Amino acid sequence: MDNREQMNIVIVGHVDHGKSTVIGRLLADTGSLPEGKLESVKEYCKKNSRPFEYAFLLDALKDEQAQGITIDTARCFFKTGKRDYIIIDAPGHIEFLKNMVTGASRAEAALLVIDAKEGIRENSKRHGHIVSMLGIKQVVVLVNKMDLVDFDNNIFNSIKSEFTEFLDKINIKPINFIPISAFNGDNVAGKSANTLWYEGPTVLEQLDGFANKKENRQLPFRMPVQDIYKFTEENDDRRIVAGTVLSGTVKTGDEVVFLPSKKRSVINSVEGFNTAPAHTVYADQAAGFTLKTQIYIKPGELMVKAGETQPVLSSRFRVNIFWVGHVPLIKNKNYKLKIGTMRIAVKLVEILNIIDAAELNIDTFKDQVERHDVAECILETAKPIAFDAISDIELTGRFVIVDNYEISGGGIILEGVPDSDNSL
Ligand code: GDP
Repeated sequence: MDNREQMNIVIVGHVDHGKSTVIGRLLADTGSLPEGKLESVKEYCKKNSRPFEYAFLLDALKDEQAQGITIDTARCFFKTGKRDYIIIDAPGHIEFLKNMVTGASRAEAALLVIDAKEGIRENSKRHGHIVSMLGIKQVVVLVNKMDLVDFDNNIFNSIKSEFTEFLDKINIKPINFIPISAFNGDNVAGKSANTLWYEGPTVLEQLDGFANKKENRQLPFRMPVQDIYKFTEENDDRRIVAGTVLSGTVKTGDEVVFLPSKKRSVINSVEGFNTAPAHTVYADQAAGFTLKTQIYIKPGELMVKAGETQPVLSSRFRVNIFWVGHVPLIKNKNYKLKIGTMRIAVKLVEILNIIDAAELNIDTFKDQVERHDVAECILETAKPIAFDAISDIELTGRFVIVDNYEISGGGIILEGVPDSDNSL
């Protein structure tokens, strides 16, 4: 396998505004379609006296995939000279939102498609909300079907200013608006002669310009402590701190900090399990460490490296939750939060926003989070815990909530928030 960089992008937009056409165009114009596929679908349409649609092309591809081993109808793949892209269409909202909010899949960027002729629809706004709740920072708006409005600069500008104003309210600052005709290919892979007034990048140039997430190894060191082992020999009171490294790297001689206890020590040795001792361990490896000084720490703490960016230590944080519990999530009830190896009592203290994932209705007045809702809320743990905002380090920014021994929700931490009072 080659080591090409991969990026996940999500595409959203009101039905019929042109998502499938944008995807089909991207596949076709980057040469990512199986040979002859485009021609055979066009031929089929001609024979059956139907106008060609990129949506048929995608359906044909999906049928083919479904017969193969990987059944993954919501994703399409294409590549540019720079990297491989996985474009995630959001057809079944519930599965999609669940995967995104629980971290099963992540997108680094979002494309929001708006029909230039129809303009902004209620769903365009809902999708904007979803992108905001998923914490996706790199957002580009594609103003599609510009051919239907004669590539009119004024229409483009008025959509741009109206939508910018709306997105601003939900904390999205789009990187760019691109006038396109997905059907004809204007400004998708090549610059359009029909929009000489537009000086920005094409869709493909824009995609290649997105920043990708960093490799886990390049991030600060994080290891949730799974266990503390004692050596079995008599007179040996050394302990091994064991866990799986989520991100970063650490080596013998490094100073480490355990959070939330804030205890510090220096790594004396790195012990391998069934392997020779190593000096350095990396993200994704299971490892055990002995320390230079005897400190008493507990499983559940987060081991980090001194001198690197530290995680947030807080008992209050703003999160997005996807709730799957049969009983609604309610305020001030005790739940259990699992994050890394930490298990701690948690309460819902405030609901900021709710999206009903099935209908995509946005509700700011509900006072409980029901099954299949996505909610932006504030949680509070019984004591401060260590975590990272999802935008900094994904693996330490995810959690699940357990209600009555059942996993009832999962989510991502957006940021730590100051305590409103010190009553806890
Ligand atoms: P989706 O529901 O968002 O996936 O929308 P589709 O991609 O299926 O497009 C809906 C309809 O709009 C189809 O009939 C497309 O051919 C048409 N369409 C999409 N993009 C364009 C465009 O740039 N110009 C024109 N004239 N029609 C388009």
